[in-house]
Amino acid sequence: MIIFGTRGKYLKQQSDAFDCTNCGSLNTVRMSFIQRYFHIFWIPIFPTSKTGISQCSNCKQALYLNEMPQALKMTYNESKKTAKTPLKYFIGLLLIALFFAFAILGIVAVTIAEGRYAKNSMVGDVYAVELPNKLYTYYKIEEIRGDTVSFSVHEYTARTLAAMQKVRRQYEDTYGTERIKFAKKDINGRIGTARISSIDRD
Ligand SMILES: [Zn+2]
Repeated sequence: MIIFGTRGKYLKQQSDAFDCTNCGSLNTVRMSFIQRYFHIFWIPIFPTSKTGISQCSNCKQALYLNEMPQALKMTYNESKKTAKTPLKYFIGLLLIALFFAFAILGIVAVTIAEGRYAKNSMVGDVYAVELPNKLYTYYKIEEIRGDTVSFSVHEYTARTLAAMQKVRRQYEDTYGTERIKFAKKDINGRIGTARISSIDRD
């Protein structure tokens, strides 16, 4: 169950005092503002509307903007500006922005590292690859001689990368004895007909 919707809270603010046209008291009317915000599980995500109400401390008459006498109406926008929306009403948006920032940074970091590995292959590097038949397996670098890189191929394949990762945890060293060889310049996003999904280096 996801609970979400809008809620309202009074903002801390003391507006100037005005005279009451209802009971005639002097300096008894003040405006306060309610910040509405969208929440998910009561965590504020972003602010929506801000509305003001005036109330007389003597006769308790409360008025919305459209009910206020002209003089009070004229000060409404000024008072509304001074009732600032605290940053906490943006917490959700900030968290979402942070989440995406970290996710993107993570992807960029991995991509940069893998780009470096691919250019600078080392014996022992393990490439997760997707074969033309859509199955996943691993190629492991066994030897690099000059411009030629020799791989052994994992004996298992799986339908997804996640399944293949699981297989690898169980049968780590079950690579075949056959070697497939490629020129270094041909290892760039692909190894022959196989597409590189990720590169692991211990
Ligand atoms: Zn009053």
